[in-house]
Amino acid sequence: MNFKIKLSPPHMSGKELKYIQEAIDTNWVAPVGDNINFFEQDLEHYLGQEVHVTALSSGTAAIHLALILAGVKKGDQVICQSLTFAASAFPILYQGATPIFVDSEKETWNIDPVLLEEAILDRIAKGKKPKAIIVVHIFGMPAKMDDILAISKKYNIPLIEDAAEALGAEYKGQKCGTFGDFGIISFNGNKIITTSGGGALITKTKAQKEKAIYLATQAKDKALFYQHSEVGYNYRMSNIAAGIGRGQMQALSSYMGKRRENHRFYQELFKPYRFIQVFSEPSLNFHSNHWLTCIQFLSNEKGKNGMDLLKVLKEHAIESKPIWKPLYLQPIFNEYPFYGGCVAASIFEKGICLPSGSNLTKKDKEIVKEVVKTYLDECHSE
Ligand SMILES: *Cc1c(COP(=O)(O)O)cnc(C)c1O
Repeated sequence: MNFKIKLSPPHMSGKELKYIQEAIDTNWVAPVGDNINFFEQDLEHYLGQEVHVTALSSGTAAIHLALILAGVKKGDQVICQSLTFAASAFPILYQGATPIFVDSEKETWNIDPVLLEEAILDRIAKGKKPKAIIVVHIFGMPAKMDDILAISKKYNIPLIEDAAEALGAEYKGQKCGTFGDFGIISFNGNKIITTSGGGALITKTKAQKEKAIYLATQAKDKALFYQHSEVGYNYRMSNIAAGIGRGQMQALSSYMGKRRENHRFYQELFKPYRFIQVFSEPSLNFHSNHWLTCIQFLSNEKGKNGMDLLKVLKEHAIESKPIWKPLYLQPIFNEYPFYGGCVAASIFEKGICLPSGSNLTKKDKEIVKEVVKTYLDECHSE
């Protein structure tokens, strides 16, 4: 389907080609070069904490390396938020470890701290303390980091922050991705900024960054010949992709402003419809990048619901998507333990994500508004 208005398409700033050209002119067309180093520095400055950033081929690769650095091995257990994209949890399986899924709370849609502690205590009672916790800032909405960090410290379990969707989002003025022992970002084509495909690992020490680069470049020993003592990966970002990233970084603040503006547009649009709630920050402590604006149908008033709206939008070549299907409901993950009730399941059933690109035009918004209003205002025979 060729959508005229897309959910979250790439948005070039015009600064990207210069860095790509530099890479080609200097022949650094490889997974090494200046663009990689400068892109990492740009991210470190932007994140504004004492962090070290390693540019990688994807956000998924970053989660995989975070798990390895956290010491997760075969047979270990890793706690993971259930309302998320499957890529948050696939690397747990790469390590031969077992995912333990935890439900969300209703305010931020992220891992529920109360259930998180319950899950940890139950796993310990059953004989195994989880080796890591993966928290997600879903759709760019920061999770309840104070409570989650306190639990990670109390039980001494490393925290991995999946900030794939949350570059630029802040909790109490601090950037998402910089709270945990490890953080990850994604630069996939649909994310807030893109390198066509790519990701980054955020670590607290230089030694961890060096270990990450070593693992991401095939775990070569310091020897004159090719010698390897550990399993390595080919996970480094290309210098061309990093060039796109450098151009994108210059537009990040403006793109985030545009995404937040989209969110305000949807708040206005849905204001007259009491049975629809626009997913919004619970308090000023939370500053979402509003990567995607989502809505929930609180009741089936006039027989209206998310899946029907999605179909109507599609008929008008407008792309919208269901909310992530909780991972414990996925065929690949349904044999693993789950702690919680039906918060994530209910969000999945009642919600959809709306077109939210930073390049969504005024005209696009008018078209979306027209289609949405026509659907919501028309009377049903039901
Ligand atoms: C996109 C995404 C990932 C994976 O990032 P890639 O760069 O596509 O590998 C992981 N977690 C979440 C929540 C994501 O949205």
